[in-house]
Amino acid sequence: MRSSLERFAKRLEPIGCFKVSSTGRTKATRPDEVTALILDRQDRKERRVSSAIARVEMRDDPSQHARETIPDDVKLLVWQRDGGKCVQCGSQANLEYDHVIPVAKGGSNTARNIQLLCESCNRTKGANFV
Ligand SMILES: [Zn+2]
Repeated sequence: MRSSLERFAKRLEPIGCFKVSSTGRTKATRPDEVTALILDRQDRKERRVSSAIARVEMRDDPSQHARETIPDDVKLLVWQRDGGKCVQCGSQANLEYDHVIPVAKGGSNTARNIQLLCESCNRTKGANFV
């Protein structure tokens, strides 16, 4: 039990969780403290990784990324506001979330900038949008 904890401690030493003294005794810390340090470290690492991934995706294709990430609550709000139908022709078929101002032109993923359009109205709009 103690020796496995020591091996564990030695593995953690290089990442700065705590020191193993020359006598082989761990100087740190109760197991719950160690666990907290480890979890905290993992949390930070995961946050770094996921924000790095987000940044890379944004850099690769900002419009594509933003387009894919209309928040669910915004979608729900827009759906309810527009009554679950195309705001132009009232069709309830092939509905799409449409950015009033395209993301590529600086439009945001807020309910104010998103409307429900059926596929054909959306295509027509896309062709005419200047
Ligand atoms: Zn329509």
